[in-house]
Amino acid sequence: MSLGGMIYRCFSIGLLVIASGCTPAQYMPQFDEATLQIKRNKIANQAERKPQDIKEDPKIALSRVYERLAPHARAACLENGEKWLDSSCSNWTLNVVDDENFNAYITPSGDITFHSEVFKYTNSDDEIAFILAHEMSHHILNHGMEDIVNSEIMGATTGFLSGILVGAIAAGLGASDDILDDIIEDAVEDGYASGRESGRLTYSVDQESEADRLGLKLIQLADYDRFAARQVVLFIGADSTELRSGQSSSHPSGPERLAAFDSYSGGASPELSSLIGCIAGDCVNGNGTYIWADGRKYEGYWADDKVNGHGAYFFPDGRKFIGQFQAGKINGQGVFESPNGHKYDGEYRNNKRHGWGTYRWPQGHKYVGEFKDDEEHGEGTLTYPDGRVVQGQWDNGKFLSE
Ligand SMILES: [Zn+2]
Repeated sequence: MSLGGMIYRCFSIGLLVIASGCTPAQYMPQFDEATLQIKRNKIANQAERKPQDIKEDPKIALSRVYERLAPHARAACLENGEKWLDSSCSNWTLNVVDDENFNAYITPSGDITFHSEVFKYTNSDDEIAFILAHEMSHHILNHGMEDIVNSEIMGATTGFLSGILVGAIAAGLGASDDILDDIIEDAVEDGYASGRESGRLTYSVDQESEADRLGLKLIQLADYDRFAARQVVLFIGADSTELRSGQSSSHPSGPERLAAFDSYSGGASPELSSLIGCIAGDCVNGNGTYIWADGRKYEGYWADDKVNGHGAYFFPDGRKFIGQFQAGKINGQGVFESPNGHKYDGEYRNNKRHGWGTYRWPQGHKYVGEFKDDEEHGEGTLTYPDGRVVQGQWDNGKFLSE
């Protein structure tokens, strides 16, 4: 067991987030309000996760993922330069404890603990890989060690340091892990209080983001799916939906974290626009975002692998449709707009204007009335830009009579 005090409750949901601040090597990128709003919407619109029965011993799943990540983590650890302990690039240990909180953490000496709840809410090795890689990244990046150094430099309160010592002494005396966990928890609380006083807490927002960044790199090196990693960031993001993290936050807000993740993941393109396929949510049965190779994009609901329900459909040339879909086609109410000024607001059937609606042309004409198979058909009124009105019967796009 380790010195206490710096357990990163990185993937905690619904818990008091324990803080331990220190200077990161890299600061989290900053984002404007509009970007963060978009990220917040993405978090809000993700498909809800339901707890699943654990089918496989979590320890086995975790070990399997660890074996695949470890060589890359070890290389990154050695690359990262001098470690507090020479052996620290190889001595990670894994634990799974029964706990109802979605949480995972690592101690400065590399003891990694996953709560069992993580395995109820994750869908694949890829998702577990990102959580594990994130925890290992804290260790690789010396966040725990920096913390000790920083707390000394900052003259942290005796409570904080004595908490660490108590944990170390208890470990030396052979206290059981359960007892140690409690001791460390107390020590962390002390650290939390002293951190708040000395104003160091916001630093770990950057650390979390830095660990996401390296974690993402590690899973890609190990050939895990980065979309799955993003799903995890979306999921945990739902726990903190403020646009920005506050002064006393230890973790980035959900929108900030997602924005930072996307900027790491997409390189020059923060919106992952170079990617295709289901980039967020559930594009089979649920709410998901899908991008086609030709640039078309759909954000909305799906059923049986088809667009179904409310959604927004975007064409690469700027045309867009927002409205109702059914079994892969536009059916029901919707609004279509093109960048050159065409707009239709009304009913659709099988991708065509059909039923009652309003069509506006860029030159200022407006038709209000019935449509059939995309054409004006039935009762309708055409208003010219100069105000003239023609009202009557229409037949497949042609005006018949008053
Ligand atoms: Zn973390």
